[in-house]
Amino acid sequence: MTRNRRHGWLACVLCIATGLAQAQDVAIVGARVVPAPDAEVIASGTVVVRDGRIVAVGPSNRIDVPDGIDVIDGNGTTLLAGFWNSHVHFLTPDMREPAAIPPDALDASLNSMLTRWGFTTVFDISSIGGAAAAMRARIETGEIRGPDILYVDTPFFPEGGTPSYVRDLFEEMQAPSAEVATADEARARAAAQLAAGANGVKLFAGAILGGALDVLPMDVEVARAIVEEAHRAGKPAFAHPTNVAGLEVSLASGVDILAHTTPVSGPWDEALVQRLREAGMALTPTLTLFDHELRRENAPQEVIDRFLGAATQQVRVFHAAGGDILFGTDVDFIQQYDTRLEFELLQASGLDWRAILATLTTTPARRFGQGDRKGRIAEGLQADLVLLDGDPADDVAAFSRVRQVLRAGKVLHRAEGGAP
Ligand SMILES: [Zn+2]
Repeated sequence: MTRNRRHGWLACVLCIATGLAQAQDVAIVGARVVPAPDAEVIASGTVVVRDGRIVAVGPSNRIDVPDGIDVIDGNGTTLLAGFWNSHVHFLTPDMREPAAIPPDALDASLNSMLTRWGFTTVFDISSIGGAAAAMRARIETGEIRGPDILYVDTPFFPEGGTPSYVRDLFEEMQAPSAEVATADEARARAAAQLAAGANGVKLFAGAILGGALDVLPMDVEVARAIVEEAHRAGKPAFAHPTNVAGLEVSLASGVDILAHTTPVSGPWDEALVQRLREAGMALTPTLTLFDHELRRENAPQEVIDRFLGAATQQVRVFHAAGGDILFGTDVDFIQQYDTRLEFELLQASGLDWRAILATLTTTPARRFGQGDRKGRIAEGLQADLVLLDGDPADDVAAFSRVRQVLRAGKVLHRAEGGAP
């Protein structure tokens, strides 16, 4: 590294830190405010933020804007609570070793992958051990801007079941194997990771080994041991199911969240959906992932249509049965950061704009124990806010047209050319 470059980092650290440290009491005025998925829309509303919290919300003609605080003109925008992305990773070279990356570069990467799409809280459901914790630490000190990060740390693979698509990564990073052979081994590692701060666990109930449908299910006793440790710590267990066998392992072990739909298994029947519901499982559809991966492999359109048809059918029946759906895109496993397609595919799966908003806000906040401080625009809650250009009630693609993002009242993102 050159001397000049090092000075460049230092200058940037100072400028960003100064920006973050500023008390940003602010009022957003004249926006169409949707306080929660089931709340009445305020056609022209004002939200006042002080010390990182929402202190007032209501129609603009009834809320006083305190003197001397910054005002954001919300005309033409829709104001929502900050979004959650419940399925992300930090895997690419500009993300996976946060401690080694200069702050300006990391700040820019987090912006392009997450914050510019409205994500103020994300759940990293497996990266190379330590990566998410290091990222979180640098954000929390104020050195870089980014979302609140929850993480599972190292995943659990079946013995002999490191998925084909991460083998090279583990080798390149010289990371220890994430395979577990016995229930005792799995229990010990899960307990250690949870004690060290992990917010949950992720197990590969069905690990993809390569070849068309070559999937290795995890031993149920091993899976059960991992989930039990998570539940003992009061934390959730995510599973990568892949197929019906993986769904069965997930059901038998008490998993809380399916990290994907399972298009390879074809449509879900009513009996299966009923069992998933009775088990209290939530579902992260990751529909964009299937489209992205099949296109990358140059799959014929009929194959793409069949897979997406199965995945959207699964979301449709699960949603119709009242299941909890969590928005998640699997970003940084895929580098398609634009969220628009996921919103369109969720709509094609039968979710209206209010149901989609729930997958982004109230459902994850409740599921992950933060419903009392996040997920809604209400007095006393943390000021995690997203301003969209346009109205998702007219067009769900508006969920991807993000003008400005605040986390705890601090500006994480402001679109160029948007409102000042
Ligand atoms: Zn993933």
